[in-house]
Amino acid sequence: MPRLVMKFGGTSVADLDRIRNVARHVKREVDAGYDVAVVVSAMSGVTNQLVAWCRDAAVLHDAREYDAVVATGEEVTAGLLAIVLQGMGINARSWQGWQLPLLTDNAHASARIAGINGDELIRRFKEHNQVAVIAGFQGLHKDTNRITTLGRGGSDTSAVAVAAAIGAERCDIYTDVDGVYTTDPRVVPKARRLDKVAFEEMLEMASLGAKVMQVRSIELGMVHNVRIFVRSSFVKPEDIDPKQTPPGTLICDESEIMEQQVVTGIAFSKDEAQISIRAVQDKPGVAAAIFGPLSEGNINVDMIVQNVSGDGKTTDLTFTVPSADFDRAKATIEKAKGEIGYARIDGAQDVAKISAIGIGMRSHAGVAAEAFKALAEKNINIRAITTSEIKFSVLIDAAYTELAVRTLHSLYGLDKA
Ligand code: ASP
Ligand code: MG
Repeated sequence: MPRLVMKFGGTSVADLDRIRNVARHVKREVDAGYDVAVVVSAMSGVTNQLVAWCRDAAVLHDAREYDAVVATGEEVTAGLLAIVLQGMGINARSWQGWQLPLLTDNAHASARIAGINGDELIRRFKEHNQVAVIAGFQGLHKDTNRITTLGRGGSDTSAVAVAAAIGAERCDIYTDVDGVYTTDPRVVPKARRLDKVAFEEMLEMASLGAKVMQVRSIELGMVHNVRIFVRSSFVKPEDIDPKQTPPGTLICDESEIMEQQVVTGIAFSKDEAQISIRAVQDKPGVAAAIFGPLSEGNINVDMIVQNVSGDGKTTDLTFTVPSADFDRAKATIEKAKGEIGYARIDGAQDVAKISAIGIGMRSHAGVAAEAFKALAEKNINIRAITTSEIKFSVLIDAAYTELAVRTLHSLYGLDKA
């Protein structure tokens, strides 16, 4: 029988009524002839509470114990869903990460999956028609046998990993939105739901601010070619016509996408800060002196703009970091002033990064140039620009975020008719 992974996020399992609704969705797929593995998140708000308790217990706490605490949220949901499914006459069994096992590396609180064994799940599909209900977000460190977690939002990654391990036809991500939109519909009411989006595009959108799924889950989907379908859990199972494709967005290989747009989506992020270092020495080794210490401090540098100096001596260098790291980044640069050699640092925190994404950009020239013109017409000043094969980003004053997003959304023909 074909296999399916169904993943339900925190809002979809927020209370017992919703868990019952989830169970009916599971039954619908079992009745349709699928072998099903369900991956669940903690009930909404639970993980936040667990994290807060760890902090209250001790501001600086052992990451292994943090994982021991925060992994419990998913365990509750998995057990409850298994109970409800059994009550509906479905053979179901819950699984924690260590029971599969889902093995990870040692990076507690943001562990990476090292391997996962789907054999036992498959055996039980075949011999007992048993539905597996798996606690997302958690795993087991392969050497120490300690419980690990995969970072916030990590149940998405668990789900895609399980789908790869059991060779699922699809990984359905049930969430509180009915798919991936061309941009955030709260900012642009004319945003459209995408029927399909390529892994690479989705990876860029998620990295650049679209908060649909954990970035790592899309990476994993791309590597193992797991088709991921984002759909709403709030649709009543009874209202779904099994013969029709339900509303949602398929994240898949680009070869599955027939009608290619040049730009697929507009992403934005206000969690950006800009740092400009004025009158930096223009000589070999300076970039290394700046970015070396930042990377050692685990500060993620994103856009980098450096000019060729006019006088051969000094130049300005601008880059962006996550706002949360702004103070730390400035302090790091000040500490390295001796080696870098510069006049002063200027910073700005009220900036936003707006990005346009689309694999069609590979074969179309002048896509970014159109945006620069359109933004200029709206009097929006661009502070920095970066481009890659399938996206470009501009850094602007945060106050213009909404206007810029709307402008680019219409410019590239993404508005709903
Ligand atoms: N419960 C975890 C979190 O809130 C993992 C997840 O829901 O994906 O981050
Ligand atoms: Mg989530």
